[in-house]
Amino acid sequence: MTTRTSKKIAPLLLSIMLLAACGPAQDTEQPRAGTPNVILFVGDGFGATQMSLGIQYARLVGQRELNIESLMGDGNTGYSLTLPFENIVIDSAASAAQMATGQLVRNDMLGIDPDGYPIESILEWAHKRGLGTGLVTNMRITHATPAAFAVHQSSRYNSEQALMDDLLGEGDVDVLLGGGARALVPAGSWVSEALPGIPEDLDGESNREDALNRIEDLANQGYEIVSDAQSLQAAASHATKLIGMFSASHLPYVIDRPHMNVSSVPTLAEMTSAALNILSRRDEGFFMLVEGGSIDFGGHANDAGTMLQEILEFDEAVGRGLKFQQSHPDTLVIVTGDHGTGGFSFTDADFGPVPDVPLESGIIYNPDFGYPTKEHLEILFRQSASYSYILEQASMDPEKLVELVLAHTGLEMTLDEAKEALVRGEDGLPGTEDFRRYHPDPDDGASALLGLALARHSFVVWSTGEHTSDPVPTYGRGPGAEKLRGIYPNTHIYSVMRDTLERRN
Ligand SMILES: [Zn+2]
Repeated sequence: MTTRTSKKIAPLLLSIMLLAACGPAQDTEQPRAGTPNVILFVGDGFGATQMSLGIQYARLVGQRELNIESLMGDGNTGYSLTLPFENIVIDSAASAAQMATGQLVRNDMLGIDPDGYPIESILEWAHKRGLGTGLVTNMRITHATPAAFAVHQSSRYNSEQALMDDLLGEGDVDVLLGGGARALVPAGSWVSEALPGIPEDLDGESNREDALNRIEDLANQGYEIVSDAQSLQAAASHATKLIGMFSASHLPYVIDRPHMNVSSVPTLAEMTSAALNILSRRDEGFFMLVEGGSIDFGGHANDAGTMLQEILEFDEAVGRGLKFQQSHPDTLVIVTGDHGTGGFSFTDADFGPVPDVPLESGIIYNPDFGYPTKEHLEILFRQSASYSYILEQASMDPEKLVELVLAHTGLEMTLDEAKEALVRGEDGLPGTEDFRRYHPDPDDGASALLGLALARHSFVVWSTGEHTSDPVPTYGRGPGAEKLRGIYPNTHIYSVMRDTLERRN
């Protein structure tokens, strides 16, 4: 285990140390030979069941190999145990913080050890030594996963303003791409006033409580600021420090983008390439995180078709990382998840009689269970809107819901099933008491209830609306990737990354 900032260092002292250690940026055309880089890809809610859904789809329907499967094929593959301090199920803040710092931490906390002291992250460590740093996500950049690499707060649920000011405070992130612009603009203003590239559908009002204009501050600090895919691409060719903000809050689900006027929003792969372009000009190497955040949201919502599209989006971004690795072999690419979400599975959800199949030999094949087939993967892939979008459009009208489900999923649900999907308790929240026992979060409950009502048709079942405790597959390519074999706490990922950046291979 490598040394880290002592937990006895007081927060103020740590801040001073971090500030004093800011290294100057140096730009060259290409990284010099042997410059170590680390790209960490974290699929939020990307557990073993999510990974297998992506691979099964690609093999059986897409007739191709996903980038993650090719990476796993290298054999530098292991399992990360996602246990936080004193629990056996982890949240995204703690899981990311454990990978970022190498220490077990408490759920919900960002960059704070179990005794309440701030801990230095791999990104901060890298910045101190003059390496380039980047955070790329399709969530708000202050959301749990990216924030855990540069924020020290007692809770991920502190105000977005507090998280954003903390994230930007030390100036230690050179490239920040994602959403969450509402915490950058002055109270009372709209995001599009400062960032005209943000489309109306993704605009929003400031949630700051002060008149600070953080966009102006960032421009004064030498950041180039972009808010649409075209400007992102242009800036990537010359910027040294870049903020790309593409939404007031999270970026929308990939599956819903065609229903919205959001063509200016870059894909996760485009953001990854832009960040790599900029950071690869750093002479000293770089550390960069890429988060595929909406896989988790699809899991919480028990919406497998939406989740599949997010998995494929994440895989495209991984592909950009692997391509970069090919031409920059001193780069370590790691792909992992922070936890599983939802307990997704295909199963025999129909319980109907399974027809006999006479075989060529004369034997009658009579399987006990009607397990799903390739066709069920195709159904998921053809889904053209998220369950939350479908429900919003249906406005609690069961007949409309039947129509919309047919139009967007191809599944023919009955009117009774549609009514079941729209059950609300006396408190107005989705589902019966039984349902809420395994799906306690009402925010995703409506979508999950629709998933349950469709299970007989989709052959998809879920075990919860929350996170799961199973270990997550972890794999990599490049210097140090062999250390990812085996089974280990996810804090081990920190050591692997740091060893590579310190050239201890
Ligand atoms: Zn989650």
